[in-house]
Amino acid sequence: MQRNVSTTVRVKLHSLTNRKSDMLAREYEAFQREVHGGDADLYSATKQQASKVQQQKDPNPDTEQPVVLRNDVLDIAHDKDTVLSSWWMKVPVYDPERGQGNSIWCPAHVPHKDETLVQEGDIRDSELVRRDGDWYVHLVVKRSVTIPDEYDDVLAIDMGARWVATCAFLSDRDTTFYGEEVRRLREHYKQLRKSIGKAKPRQGQQVVERIGDAEARKVDDRLHKIARHIVEDAEERNTVIVVGDLGGICRDNDKGRYINDKIHKMPFARLLNYIEYKAHGAGIDVVLVEEYDTSKTCNRCACEGVRETQGRFECPECGLDDNADKNGALNIGKRASGKFSKPLSEAGAVLAQPKTQVIVERDEEPANLSISVGSTPSGGTPRL
Ligand SMILES: [Zn+2]
Repeated sequence: MQRNVSTTVRVKLHSLTNRKSDMLAREYEAFQREVHGGDADLYSATKQQASKVQQQKDPNPDTEQPVVLRNDVLDIAHDKDTVLSSWWMKVPVYDPERGQGNSIWCPAHVPHKDETLVQEGDIRDSELVRRDGDWYVHLVVKRSVTIPDEYDDVLAIDMGARWVATCAFLSDRDTTFYGEEVRRLREHYKQLRKSIGKAKPRQGQQVVERIGDAEARKVDDRLHKIARHIVEDAEERNTVIVVGDLGGICRDNDKGRYINDKIHKMPFARLLNYIEYKAHGAGIDVVLVEEYDTSKTCNRCACEGVRETQGRFECPECGLDDNADKNGALNIGKRASGKFSKPLSEAGAVLAQPKTQVIVERDEEPANLSISVGSTPSGGTPRL
């Protein structure tokens, strides 16, 4: 089966002349005015996009919004013979000197692994983003991938605040917990930023920015490793990957405080992006399902359960007592199982001793892990 999938490639614009970077900054600021209800001179197609963002999202005044670049006025070209850069990106901007729309070609850096994709894929509407004084185009590339018609199993992923990803196979409930260290990393750097800000409020800013870069790199590296692990597991057992949609990963709608908190604290969208990228490269489909109620429903009897402590899920009906994130992941997997051509209604009926694995990658010994993973009780009935 062929499926169209989209991938976001982070293209950095570099070696910009003053004129070009001024024009980008001008367009960016004008876009901010327009999306916050003002009126500004913008490239006409971009102005339309700005009023769409304004109408659909009505963004908070103190947020910056990426400039939406329509795909028909955007272009990227590869020319290995140019000295300055082998990639060039055409960005539409309003040109105040000419009093009309114009385009500027900017030297661009496309990550090596994405070069083929950018050359062969179909460019969609993309975004111009400014970060720490640098310009990026988040280039959305659509391509067609071949994915199997049938799968042997479902690998369900629950993204959460405790573990960045809890992954469970639906057939035998093997569960792997990933990335508590991502949360720790973020907390560590948050504390560091705070203490620096207090000690040296003036000089602190630059240091804080450098710390931000170091954090981003470390977190990014962990996320790539986690995504690789997950996709390898899926490949090995010929599974489809199912991810609980937190409501903000793909859409911008506001679904209440808890969900927003979950999203803002952890880089879920990025992890999902990496998983999709690697999975599609391996010919594995990634399906999003609604996440509502998956954390409070018992995956065995579908009754409403209680979360006695943060990490445990207990069902008053059938007596299930298990790790809460694992219960959530299994519900996500079950919710999705109806969507596939091969019936998976029997999936989950296999009575197997679940194997629970914790993937922790950090320097020091992990503490308290045995508590949070919920190990299988010895001698008891095998848990479903
Ligand atoms: Zn139950």
